[in-house]
Amino acid sequence: MFIFTDAIFLTSRRGKPVIQIGEHRYNKYSRSKGAKAIWVCVKWSTKACRASITTIDDTIIKTNNYHTH
Ligand SMILES: [Zn+2]
Repeated sequence: MFIFTDAIFLTSRRGKPVIQIGEHRYNKYSRSKGAKAIWVCVKWSTKACRASITTIDDTIIKTNNYHTH
């Protein structure tokens, strides 16, 4: 079971919002608008990892915590 309370909202060195959960880090998907946001694993492109998080108003409502790495 995934523990949502482990999620930490951070700002990257480039000023972009990121979520840190354990050893994994997620970037905000830039095309998402409004209260709902999609966050994807930082290894999305380099490792074809499709783990993602959905938030509404910075509350996690859904996770896909399967990582390929
Ligand atoms: Zn991943």
